[in-house]
Amino acid sequence: MTAPAVRRIEAVAKTLLSTYGSPPAAERRPLLDVLIETVLSQNTSDRNSHRAYRALRRRFPRWELVLASPRRSVAAAIASGGLANIKAARIKALLSGFRRRFGRPTLEPLRHLPAEDAYRYLLSLAGVGPKTAACTLLFGRGTPIFPVDTHIARISQRLGWAEPGETPAAFQERFRRLVPDRLVYSLHINLIAHGRAVCHPRGPACPGCCIRRYCQWQKGESDS
Ligand code: SF4
Repeated sequence: MTAPAVRRIEAVAKTLLSTYGSPPAAERRPLLDVLIETVLSQNTSDRNSHRAYRALRRRFPRWELVLASPRRSVAAAIASGGLANIKAARIKALLSGFRRRFGRPTLEPLRHLPAEDAYRYLLSLAGVGPKTAACTLLFGRGTPIFPVDTHIARISQRLGWAEPGETPAAFQERFRRLVPDRLVYSLHINLIAHGRAVCHPRGPACPGCCIRRYCQWQKGESDS
């Protein structure tokens, strides 16, 4: 993507800010809480994953209790989030790795690492992909690394930001270096809001779309 493309990103971010407003700052929370909540959000809806996370914390108020419990109890607690057995095993393995590395199940030492080192460390963990790693640092530490979720991947394809066939992971790696730091948080939140409200997976509401003038997909539709 070129300098003019960066200017287009800024223009889209500005338009979305006027449409959806400036999102409230993320509440400061332990990094481990944010990571586990993001792991639970994989392959399910926000509603189901929030329900699963709340149930997990009610059943196991401390992460040590998850470590001390059998996988099936953890899976039962997060059943509403889907893929419960896989996610329970993943969460237990992550907690166990953090205990080995940091002496207890915590990710707080990552607050003291340079952003790129913290990101690379998270990416090295089984079950943690680019979106999960970036969300953990953006929401848990305020580090401006842009996460690409399913809504953002779809809109980016339509806008022509992502190359045809480019995976969300590959796109994130390229795109995160282009979004100015000051726009990362609001652009991430507002693109998701736009994906939910207007740029639906099927039948996007293009006629009333605030970023229509920047969209290649919409131009293709009106040319055809
Ligand atoms: S014009 Fe249509 S396809 Fe393009 S971003 Fe807006 S809603 Fe999505």
